[in-house]
Amino acid sequence: MRAYDVVIVGAGGAGLRTAIECARDEDIKIAVVSKVYPTRSHTGAAQGGVNAALGNVIKDDSPETHAYDTIKGSDFLADQDAVFFMCENAPEVIYELDRWGVPFSRLPDGRIAQRPFGGASFPRTVFSADRTGHVILHTLFEQALSKDNIDFYNEFFLIDILHNGQRVKGVSIYDIKNGEVITLRTKAVVLATGGFARIYWQRSTNAVGNTGDGVAVALRNGVPLKDIEFIQFHPTGLAKTGILLSEACRGEGGYLLNKFGERFMSRYAPEKMELAPRDMVSRAIEYEIREGRGVGEGTSAYVYLDLRHLGEEKIKERLPQVRQLAIDFEGVDPITDLVPIRPTAHYCMGGIHVENYITSSTPLEGLYAVGECACVSVHGANRLGGNSLIELLVFGKFCGIAVREYAKYSQHLPLTKAEENAGKEYIEKLIRREGSEKLAQIRKRMGEITWEKMGIFRDEKSLASAYEELSELLERWEKIPVVDKSKVFNTNLIEVMELRNMIEIARAVAFCALHRRESRGGHYREDYPERDDENFLKHTLVRQENGKLTIEYIPVRITKYQPAERKY
Ligand SMILES: Cc1cc2nc3c(=O)[nH]c(=O)nc-3n(C[C@H](O)[C@H](O)[C@H](O)COP(=O)(O)OP(=O)(O)OC[C@H]3O[C@@H](n4cnc5c(N)ncnc54)[C@H](O)[C@@H]3O)c2cc1C
Repeated sequence: MRAYDVVIVGAGGAGLRTAIECARDEDIKIAVVSKVYPTRSHTGAAQGGVNAALGNVIKDDSPETHAYDTIKGSDFLADQDAVFFMCENAPEVIYELDRWGVPFSRLPDGRIAQRPFGGASFPRTVFSADRTGHVILHTLFEQALSKDNIDFYNEFFLIDILHNGQRVKGVSIYDIKNGEVITLRTKAVVLATGGFARIYWQRSTNAVGNTGDGVAVALRNGVPLKDIEFIQFHPTGLAKTGILLSEACRGEGGYLLNKFGERFMSRYAPEKMELAPRDMVSRAIEYEIREGRGVGEGTSAYVYLDLRHLGEEKIKERLPQVRQLAIDFEGVDPITDLVPIRPTAHYCMGGIHVENYITSSTPLEGLYAVGECACVSVHGANRLGGNSLIELLVFGKFCGIAVREYAKYSQHLPLTKAEENAGKEYIEKLIRREGSEKLAQIRKRMGEITWEKMGIFRDEKSLASAYEELSELLERWEKIPVVDKSKVFNTNLIEVMELRNMIEIARAVAFCALHRRESRGGHYREDYPERDDENFLKHTLVRQENGKLTIEYIPVRITKYQPAERKY
């Protein structure tokens, strides 16, 4: 059996940044496992940019202002010590990327350019046109490839982690290319498997692979998830497909218009207008549609994004990908046309419970979580645009340091024969399984439930019904056969495993949302429309044992800023 000191599952920005830091000690042997080729990870789809208070455009900006904006944006649910840690370390990790060769867009004097983004007091978002994630991901991959002590397991699917209830021992992974299951012994596992906004199957900006596999594995293994009821809906998804048009559109000066041509944000956020935080802008769009000021009705209704006044030159220089997406998927050219848009599921504020923000450790010894699959928590109830990429870079770096030190001073635990074979047996059982349920139907139904009953607007009845129906879907999942029995690139088998992960997480999201009887950030309850600090200024922790979910709450760490009403 192969043995490593550290196994990192996920080769997006979070996994790669962790691996690079970990590999600085050449004696540490690292495996990076990824179900897609690393440069196809969702980080590569990030468009708008990454936040760091460099003060290049307005020098008054500071890590402290970045921290305050983040905390206010989070609706005061973020842990303030962790937010300060992220914001203070942000400039350094950006300069590291600059030295590694990321081609950031520049000011005329050669310094790194910064653009305004939602909820930010200053232009703080560092970018490379509208392909920021793409260039960061490729640069990180180059750096990781240059390390001799990293082995890549590309196109391997995580089946499970192995542990003794106290400490991690290994992982079992499935080779998508040939159907083989292998077990890796390891002292530490870092989960960096990305978000799960694909539980909103109908309408999401996320890659189809963002199915929350690592989050579901943690949940099944008794590791708590934190604040997963908080899902971010991005205001500007293309109307027909839900594909993202970056916040950079509004950062560069784009307007939102209703069918009368009004800039309706003046009703909801008179000061910040289109650059209010995403939760507020998304709800504003939905109110306009509900009150008949959108174009069309029902699920196909929309409002407009207007970029025309920015001019051809700026659109081509700063928003080339946005323009192409609008042309390809909506049939309109933003230089001359209005673009139909509507909110779309985008990001998961919650995730695997990280206990210590400096190390990114979880309650299970040897298990770490970084990136979108983790909840540190720096985003609280609502993330600001550009703050996810900076989270990956800062916490990836410090997790890399922590995990390499942990691995240096700890020992491998022995694996039993049963543990070694567990992954193989699970796959064989799935392949043999018979039943009459259909994968596509159940996935479609899951998408309808999540969108309609636990989307932008929620209430007791809709959430209770979502929870019930998702529990039923989980039972029906047991009767989905894997029709394709082949060994080579069996995508049917992978999709069956991913669907289980999505339904389990979706059910837990409904459960936590049902119990949070208030509105805060991305979680909006029509039956409890106010924020309730007295009862709910706390983090949700959800655990799953023998298929049953239980909830507890832990305090928010408030160090400097007392909760105040959020006005923009
Ligand atoms: C369209 C879009 C635009 C965005 N734009 C911005 C932006 O401009 N600024 C910003 O700050 N944020 C942005 N975000 C958010 C940000 O990009 C993501 O939160 C972030 O990139 C997630 O990085 P990650 O490394 O955690 O996960 P990912 O990049 O999603 O990588 C996950 C990795 O885990 C692996 N993996 C998953 N499951 C398994 C499994 N079962 N077995 C093996 N491997 C597995 C995958 O192969 C992949 O390598 C955007 C998100 C989207 C969807």
